[in-house]
Amino acid sequence: MMVDTKGPLSYYLYETFNVSSILSLVTATILSFGGEMGKKYLNFINIRGLTRRDFLWLFSVSAAGFLTGCSINPVTGQSQIMLVSEDSEVQIDRKNSPHQFSADYGIIQDKSLNSYINQTGKKIASLTHRPGMPYSFQCVNAAYVNAYAFPGGSIAVTRGILVNLNNEAELSALLGHELGHVNARHTAEQMSKGLLTSALVGGIAVFAGAKNQTYGKIAESLGMVGSGMLLASYSRDNEREADALGMEYMIKAGYGPDGFIGLMDMLRKMSKNKPGSIELMFSTHPMSDERYNTAVSNVSRLNESSRKLPLYRERYMDNTAKLRSVKAAIDELQSGDSEMAKQKYNIAEGHFQKALSIAPNDYAGLVLMSKCLLIQEKYGEALRYAETAKQVYPGEAQAHQFSGFAKMKKKDFDAAYEEFNNYEKVLPDNPNTIFYKGYCQEQMKHIKESAFEYNRYLQIVKNGEQATHSYQRLVEWGYIKPAK
Ligand SMILES: [Zn+2]
Repeated sequence: MMVDTKGPLSYYLYETFNVSSILSLVTATILSFGGEMGKKYLNFINIRGLTRRDFLWLFSVSAAGFLTGCSINPVTGQSQIMLVSEDSEVQIDRKNSPHQFSADYGIIQDKSLNSYINQTGKKIASLTHRPGMPYSFQCVNAAYVNAYAFPGGSIAVTRGILVNLNNEAELSALLGHELGHVNARHTAEQMSKGLLTSALVGGIAVFAGAKNQTYGKIAESLGMVGSGMLLASYSRDNEREADALGMEYMIKAGYGPDGFIGLMDMLRKMSKNKPGSIELMFSTHPMSDERYNTAVSNVSRLNESSRKLPLYRERYMDNTAKLRSVKAAIDELQSGDSEMAKQKYNIAEGHFQKALSIAPNDYAGLVLMSKCLLIQEKYGEALRYAETAKQVYPGEAQAHQFSGFAKMKKKDFDAAYEEFNNYEKVLPDNPNTIFYKGYCQEQMKHIKESAFEYNRYLQIVKNGEQATHSYQRLVEWGYIKPAK
């Protein structure tokens, strides 16, 4: 329910659709039975309207789930203002993390590597202040350097960061740091202070209504969730605390704290040599030489037995051997990604080509190439890469979205609709997909089906061109009464 009310239209949508979204199940059911009855029911809701007081009441009911008042911080043991319950943390996590994982090209298909990451994380998690959270640790296919945590304990690291680590102690430092954010409840704290971007609270819906600064208009319409929109941005104090907790946890788990220094050193060097590949990580986890220096001085104060704990280099190298064998491809993807962000699509395409010559069946490579071609309006070629990506990783959603988009641009609306439908089966609730389903149906002159999707869309997104388009069609077709 995070909507800004800029003009009369958005205000109208705000009032009407936020409220009617509560009734959405009923509306959707009636509409799906279709015909005049569905139309009348929708008209009924809007003619009758709801008073501002009704609206506020409904809003306060739904907001009540968040309110828990004062609570004890699990790390400091001190009382703090906390408006977010543990249940809400888990809910926010479950709603958002699958979209972020898909935006990062899905969980790595190498099951043994992923279970190695998960086991390493779980071992440390059991020694934290909140051992009972539903933790999971995954490696996602993205090539840029990043790691992140959702407030319920879903933690991910990218392939791009794993190929730059030297031992298991560095990995445990990275996971320990993310665990620090979860345990000190930093996301919940940011939410309580109202500091968190509405994206995480409203989820992907807010993203869909926003402009994507990075790739421009086409990318925006691709329904991409990139650029860390769903990730919390921490303060420097949060970072210091997460660093301190991370080091504490990894030592408890039996890892040498030199791994922490190694991690900080790697990040520091990356930020100087390859700033593009690490930009996002630093936008969410502020990094400075100070963090490295603090780690060095903290380690020097530890007792000898802690300092001498092992780093497990060989075990790390064994478990990541297969991944590291395609490091050259991952580097090319990183470079391509950076060029795309600078809107140099031609150069980016060259990097993706090189990456795919090293690792032809790399899902992230295929999807990135498809994305890059779509942005350049080379729809036929883009479709070819998206189709291959689908074959390589059938359980991942993003390739379906790109394939659908390419087919839509080639005016093959029936086939495009199928792709968007497939996407929704894997990853529900992406409003962009819902909009495109409506759009494809509209192009095929299936008014009832189109109205159904546009109505669903407007229940999630209230602003932007797609919302305006959906709204206008519903007015035109007599499903809703226009705003005065
Ligand atoms: Zn951090």
